[in-house]
Amino acid sequence: MTATLIDGLAIAKSLRLQAAERARACIEKGRAAGLAVVLIGNNPASQVYVRNKVKACAEAGITSRLIEKPENLSEVELLSIIDDLNHDPEIDGILVQLPLPKQLDAHRVIEAIAADKDVDGFHVSNAGALMTGRPLFQPCTPYGVIKMLESIDAPIWGAHAVICGASNIVGKPMAMMLLARGATVTVCNSKTQRLQEHTRRADILVSAVGRPNMISADMVRPGAIVIDVGINRLSDGRLVGDVDFAAVSQVASAITPVPGGVGPMTIAMLLINTLESAERRLHLS
Ligand code: NAP
Repeated sequence: MTATLIDGLAIAKSLRLQAAERARACIEKGRAAGLAVVLIGNNPASQVYVRNKVKACAEAGITSRLIEKPENLSEVELLSIIDDLNHDPEIDGILVQLPLPKQLDAHRVIEAIAADKDVDGFHVSNAGALMTGRPLFQPCTPYGVIKMLESIDAPIWGAHAVICGASNIVGKPMAMMLLARGATVTVCNSKTQRLQEHTRRADILVSAVGRPNMISADMVRPGAIVIDVGINRLSDGRLVGDVDFAAVSQVASAITPVPGGVGPMTIAMLLINTLESAERRLHLS
């Protein structure tokens, strides 16, 4: 079997066009949707992610405000910046780029963001809302995965979904979103024994671990849908996912590439979440 490629770049492009239309409607209603992005320190990967987010906003017609601060920023100063943004009527979404320098407590920082501007969906009340079936913002990466599954009309209802990785930003919300759509969900972590016995049972396999080639062809049930969230930089500079793409694409029915898979979807969903927030504020939804 040679798997269908789920083209994240193409799906994201069409979502970004839809976002641009919605952004225009916000402007017609009175003002542009606004996203604040807070970047602390000089982490090169974070700088690239932030640059891509700001560029995507500009292309869609969303105003972005980039706030860059030095590595040694104190928590008091950061909380004061967030407080100002919480009260800023032109800001619909606030994103603090993770990871944070070690003097800053990520939990405290995220909890300081107003839940109704938390477009990453990481605030505890947004995590709880997702868990109880009334999400306000769905975390961008797993939300993007759902859009990718929808793009190929993947049957989620009644499917067995296996997720490798249980982080608060990917694995756990992914589990909640698939469960809410009727899947039976298994979540694996670093302590999981005999991982292959779980992955082999998956109709939908999502890997969000951060280990190159962790998912080999013999771990995949023939015909399964395989979504690779992992982003790993190899020593030769190449970017790869968690999945042995060449081998697994001979076994799976559909697969996402890295790069060009889940990554572009994450940014597209950030735009969508920002617009949902702006539309609520402008009473467009
Ligand atoms: P993370 O916070 O480091 O979490 C990794 C998860 O993988 C943890 O739950 C860990 O288990 C689990 N794990 C580690 N080894 C495992 C193993 N052998 N078998 C099964 N599970 C294992 O990472 P993250 O932030 O969720 O990100 C995961 C990957 O996705 C990274 O490569 C990251 O770069 C990528 N990512 C991509 C996007 C995108 O837009 N494409 C967005 C976010 C993240 P424990 O809980 O037991 O530690």
